[in-house]
Amino acid sequence: MVIVGSGPAAVSAAEAFRDHNPDDPIRIITDDPALPYARPPLSKEFLRGEAEPTDAELHPATWFDERSIELVRGVSVDAVDVAGRHVTVDGKHRPYRWLILACGAKPVPFPVPGGETALLLRSLADAQSLRDAAVKAGSAVVIGAGFIGCEAAASLAMRGVSTTLVAPDRVPQAKRLGEDAGERITRLLRDTGVTYVGSVSVDGLAEGVVRLDDGTTIECDLVVAATGVEPQSAMASAAGIETRDGRVVVDAHMRTSVDNVYAAGDVAFAYNSLAGRSVAVEHWQDAVDQGEIAGAGAAGQTREWDAVPGFWTTIGEATLKYHAWGDGFERARFVDHGDGFTVWYERERAAVGVLTLNADEDYDRGEELIQRKSPIPL
Ligand SMILES: Cc1cc2nc3c(=O)[nH]c(=O)nc-3n(C[C@H](O)[C@H](O)[C@H](O)COP(=O)(O)OP(=O)(O)OC[C@H]3O[C@@H](n4cnc5c(N)ncnc54)[C@H](O)[C@@H]3O)c2cc1C
Repeated sequence: MVIVGSGPAAVSAAEAFRDHNPDDPIRIITDDPALPYARPPLSKEFLRGEAEPTDAELHPATWFDERSIELVRGVSVDAVDVAGRHVTVDGKHRPYRWLILACGAKPVPFPVPGGETALLLRSLADAQSLRDAAVKAGSAVVIGAGFIGCEAAASLAMRGVSTTLVAPDRVPQAKRLGEDAGERITRLLRDTGVTYVGSVSVDGLAEGVVRLDDGTTIECDLVVAATGVEPQSAMASAAGIETRDGRVVVDAHMRTSVDNVYAAGDVAFAYNSLAGRSVAVEHWQDAVDQGEIAGAGAAGQTREWDAVPGFWTTIGEATLKYHAWGDGFERARFVDHGDGFTVWYERERAAVGVLTLNADEDYDRGEELIQRKSPIPL
């Protein structure tokens, strides 16, 4: 078994494969030099300086040894040969009988003049560079108000760095979550000390100055670009494995278009048997689940992906919880609970999502409604 990548999809694939196949060798090959770690703390506790790299480790090195999982770190898989059943690493062929592509996604370089000077946040090394820069910074601009941008901005502000978050939406994530949710996220950000500047795009970066398309500029000591990621599917596509919209197409068992080759996690465009369609997700738990399905499947077990995708995100002290197919809604209904809220999302008279703050009952009920394809509560 060869697994490319060392994120949650890869590690859970290795674990599930080993659980059902005690004998065949497993080799995880990753270009990340660190022991496999969790990314969610990187924009939260780690950036705030409240956790160390070892706190984020998924398992100690002995966990891999005890399961005879070989961990080859700091090297890139350059190519896959599906006819010859091998991958190429440093010019050498490494054979496989089963291959799992768990290559995840990487930040898209920020495409404006000077964009290469912005810090990115995906790997532990990125997070360490950002944290080091934050120690010396008095002010920061975070570009992009997706969840990672919001979390990073809140963490920087909570460290005492004067932080501005800029994004094209009038309020954060208005397109994805609706205007009302965006208003509340703006408030949560403000509570941590973040200044949100919406309805703007960044034209360029130069020497501590962020230039906006409305003609204004913001001076700052550090810039973070949290402007989106690109699934790492190019190698699969070059090998003739089917991809769509930049992701590797897999069925509900995580099987690609090529025998004995699986894909899981952020890189995959997976068929969800409950939704009855393929959905692209970039969430931690879904990567774990999909990796488990791929690893168990390669070991001869039948599993299928039928969970409602979801994640939690923390902005300051507030934890937002989200379950959704994530591919759009026709109607959003916002319910204010004072110290929290629920947003119900509906499409074709069926619940397709729920977002909650301090409303766990709605969060659980939302998952059930989505599973049953029932309408949202009036
Ligand atoms: C800062 C941050 C905070 C986050 N917070 C949350 C959160 O709160 N909740 C949530 O649900 N999700 C969160 N996410 C998203 C979540 O981490 C991802 O959805 C998840 O990591 C995807 O797992 P994966 O295994 O598919 O890929 P990844 O974790 O991206 O791992 C892919 C691995 O493959 C390696 N790789 C790629 N190509 C090659 C190659 N050719 N050769 C060798 N190795 C290769 C990469 O280096 C990487 O180690 C966060 C992400 C970040 C960056």
